Amino acid sequence: MSYGGARAFASAFRYLGVNAQVVPEGDARTYELAGPYTSGDECLPARVTVGNFLKAMEIPGFDPAKTAFFMPTAGGPCRFGQYAPFLRQVLGEMGVDEIIVVSPTSADGYSGLGSLAGPLLRLGWWGLVGSDALRKMLHIYRPHETEPGAADRAHEEALELFCTALGDQSVPLKGKVNRLAGALEAGRDAFRRVPVDFEKDTMLIGVVGEIFCRLSTFSNEDLIRRLEPFGAQAWLSDISEWVWYTDEENVKNLKMYGKTFSRAMLAAVIKKRIQHGYEKKLLAPLKEEFVGVEEPHSIMDVLDLSDPYLPREGALGEMVLSTGKAIYLYGKGADGIVDISPFTCMNGIVSEAIYPKVSKDHEGIPIRTFYFDGTQTDLENDLGIFMELVKNYHRKKTRRWVRRRAA
Ligand code: SF4
Repeated sequence: MSYGGARAFASAFRYLGVNAQVVPEGDARTYELAGPYTSGDECLPARVTVGNFLKAMEIPGFDPAKTAFFMPTAGGPCRFGQYAPFLRQVLGEMGVDEIIVVSPTSADGYSGLGSLAGPLLRLGWWGLVGSDALRKMLHIYRPHETEPGAADRAHEEALELFCTALGDQSVPLKGKVNRLAGALEAGRDAFRRVPVDFEKDTMLIGVVGEIFCRLSTFSNEDLIRRLEPFGAQAWLSDISEWVWYTDEENVKNLKMYGKTFSRAMLAAVIKKRIQHGYEKKLLAPLKEEFVGVEEPHSIMDVLDLSDPYLPREGALGEMVLSTGKAIYLYGKGADGIVDISPFTCMNGIVSEAIYPKVSKDHEGIPIRTFYFDGTQTDLENDLGIFMELVKNYHRKKTRRWVRRRAA
């Protein structure tokens, strides 16, 4: 979960009467606390999430008997499914196993959330769409700001407006989308007050990779912010992409098991339609802001681009999305692609093996995987070298980025 996404989710919970708080942001203490319970074989996101939950326990007044930790789970080969059992094990070893770990899964329709499941899924979707959009605004405005810090302040203001609207219990669920669209419009206006120079030449860098690591600025050492002084504007793959992908996988599996004409298929199609409708409504006020960085019309566009390299019948997860999205970004005129992955993650390893061929087939666009394992790296130097390759490609590329300029 991203910073904004986690805040939005907490607001969604609060709307439903649950006193939800976001765990503290990661810092050196995160690794220090997780250290005694981890060996280094775990995924970096496991170490960060466990460390941050342990940090939450250090907040003055923390009462284990009145606390539940929210840590969803999933099946499949990805180690994410091990996070919740791992957290329970750590809490057990610490002797604080009265803390409940709430661990819903999509496999049973999130029945672990009880009666909250239906409304939370809707509120959660609105929260993800809104927080994704505001982060995208930050990545557009920040490289062009002429007053340092102004875009970050606008992002905070916009996120606060959005989360307040999401958690506002005085607005019934029925009228919520309009209220949220209004909050996003107000947030857009906060960004429009940022002093900017949109005539400044920036290079468009697509950012793909493992979902947690690419979205957690702590885990990726704030790579995007550090890329910007080199003249980059980042286009980060958002969380909604993953939701669209899992929806599409669900449809694929239903077909595979002979359930093309079934109630489950009807439900899956209706769900997608409703999600699309909400997304369109929420993002309407931001349409002009996203000129040049328009998302694909459908996740199938991404999957089709990935197909010659990683057919979705044989490969799953972020590796498929990262490969397809890298090609989509090339088509939109990106100057380079960064893949952010935790060290030892299979997704990053497979994508990295595919990228030289992808690059060769697409005018030699620079694609570079950056791995993170929570130890210090020479990121500045590596980013500088990557951006030199980007500048060379920028001069010779044929795909132009139809980018936003000053109004
Ligand atoms: S995608 Fe990779 S890093 Fe992320 S949870 Fe799965 S195995 Fe771990």
